[in-house]
Amino acid sequence: MRTVRTVAALREALAPHRAAGQRIGLVPTMGALHEGHLSLVRAARADSDVVVVSVFVNPTQFDDPNDLAAYPRTEAADVALAAAAGADLVFAPEPAELYPRGYATTVAVTGPLAESLEGAQRGRAHFDGVATVVTKLLLAVAPDAAWFGAKDAQQVVVVRRVVADLGIPVRIEVGPTVRDADGLAMSSRNVRLGPADRTRALALSRALRAVQDALGGGADVPAARDAGLTELATEGIDPEYLALVDPDTLEPAEPGRPVLVLVAARVGPVRLIDTVTVTPDAPGAL
Ligand code: AMP
Repeated sequence: MRTVRTVAALREALAPHRAAGQRIGLVPTMGALHEGHLSLVRAARADSDVVVVSVFVNPTQFDDPNDLAAYPRTEAADVALAAAAGADLVFAPEPAELYPRGYATTVAVTGPLAESLEGAQRGRAHFDGVATVVTKLLLAVAPDAAWFGAKDAQQVVVVRRVVADLGIPVRIEVGPTVRDADGLAMSSRNVRLGPADRTRALALSRALRAVQDALGGGADVPAARDAGLTELATEGIDPEYLALVDPDTLEPAEPGRPVLVLVAARVGPVRLIDTVTVTPDAPGAL
């Protein structure tokens, strides 16, 4: 297990593996690794000869400078956890490595995929930042496949769009959302929740469950959404959004089609998101 900090060192480390025809897998992260990230590393391990985990808190996707400053940074622990989960290489560049002096190029994703929901709340620069850094990581690693978490559902839609539009030769794989035993979706930001807010935050997964149950019981979209809002209100949470949309287009959900349910809310000092997909025949479980 090695840590490299430059694209040149990364390419050099991967070159012999590539030349030998080995399959390279990439798991992009912003560090502060938890079981959600590690599940993706294990999935990459099972499917690849060489697993690269990138650890980079990407400044261009943060709309809130305080959130960027407060973002947990735990590189030594991340390296140990990544290695234990089967990573071969950690790519942990400094910001100047990916955004050198004079940097002037952005991968911009336009339209509702990037401008609705998270894009509407965080500003359109958010997904431009995501699209740009993911493109740069895919160019640097040139993996056969890259793993992303279903928890960041809109990010997955945006990344798939970028890969298709730019013709990047990579397979995008998506791993299920990993939760704590009480239902809270794991997030690097959860460590910033105090005990009372940690309890209040459980209303997000309960709200998704309420929407899911309502849809499963035959409720229409507005009624199902109301069921979720009611659950959030039990903890006094007024979400930034609670949306039921088409999983591919992010357009309003239509009867008879799978429904992607997404919620974003501020709980104490932390902004949290969570999501679940409900399919008409198999409502599934959170
Ligand atoms: P982040 O470090 O938050 O940028 O996340 C890196 C990757 O891990 C992204 O593809 C996330 O969707 C994924 N991820 C984060 N949290 C979870 C989780 N609880 N379950 C599954 N994947 C996750």
